[in-house]
Amino acid sequence: DELIEEDKTPIRWFRANTVRSSCEQIAKEFNELERVYDIKSIKKGTIYYDQYIPNLFGVDPLEKITSSAAYKQGRIIIQDRSSCFPAYILNPKPGVDKVIDACSAPGNKTTHLASILRNTPNSIIAFEKDDHRVKTLEKMCKMAGALGCIEIRHGDFTQTKPEDFTDVTGMLVDPSCSGSGIFGRAYEDNAQKGRDVEDSNDPYNKTRLEKLSNFQFTIVKHAMLFPGLRKLVYSTCSIYPEEDERVAIRLIEDEDLKKRGWKFSPRERVIPDWPRRGRVEEFKSFDDPDRCAGACVRSLPKVDGGIGFFAVCFERGPTVGLDLE
Ligand code: SAM
Repeated sequence: DELIEEDKTPIRWFRANTVRSSCEQIAKEFNELERVYDIKSIKKGTIYYDQYIPNLFGVDPLEKITSSAAYKQGRIIIQDRSSCFPAYILNPKPGVDKVIDACSAPGNKTTHLASILRNTPNSIIAFEKDDHRVKTLEKMCKMAGALGCIEIRHGDFTQTKPEDFTDVTGMLVDPSCSGSGIFGRAYEDNAQKGRDVEDSNDPYNKTRLEKLSNFQFTIVKHAMLFPGLRKLVYSTCSIYPEEDERVAIRLIEDEDLKKRGWKFSPRERVIPDWPRRGRVEEFKSFDDPDRCAGACVRSLPKVDGGIGFFAVCFERGPTVGLDLE
């Protein structure tokens, strides 16, 4: 019932950067906006407090958020709602967990992790291999006041030695993808109608998708070899199952990873109230397809109030701090 019409202007989402501020302070700073209680009622002059992600607000895109003092001083960070899912699902505990963000720039999810970890010194290692993008990452972490808890490593995450990171308990992997969930791309309409990519004439053809999904599988598998890791969230801003559920399935069926005890997380720990889950039909060969789909959350471009997105959570015992109990 939260679906909004496809042609409605999308919502602009921003979160209180709790490293520099608090939800209450941000609510106060924007208190000239009238509070509304469902996303369909968002229009100019109103503000919505999200029901799924703590400290997240939604406003009309016409609202001049980027000229506010809160934005300029790093007290708020503009980030799409579904892009906030991964760090929120990982839910690391300050003082207990140490996490890696394997693909960090520009740093939306890294700085979200910093907020959740309450800026605990040395609790995050952020990898980024691109020379230019790593600078953006540095700027963003600085702006967020989070450099004390984030160690930036400029390099290729797949070249790391897992045994050098025995203290790492949680991981985000948000690798390069087709970006098919982002608005304004030529192939968006095809994808939304659920047409097979092969049938569509979009520029992201099957060969490219195959390359991307092989890379996605490789980088997440590498992450899953870290010896102390208990929980991992893989995400994309793609709406293609090739990059989403099918990558998750390859990982969960990998013999090497099975031996290491990796399983899909139960829905209870993966934003249980969010209604749009993984595509059940993709898991039809499993004993309990609904359980597998429950480990995933998806959002559709526009109709879910933002970009198209996918995230899946894996975990293995024994439990540490990461909310696995
Ligand atoms: N997580 C980011 C955020 O929320 O702001 C967005 C990440 S973007 C989808 C993917 C990033 O991964 C790109 O900046 C890309 O340069 C980086 N990347 C790709 N392959 C990588 C690798 N092997 N090691 C480290 N970074 C990599």
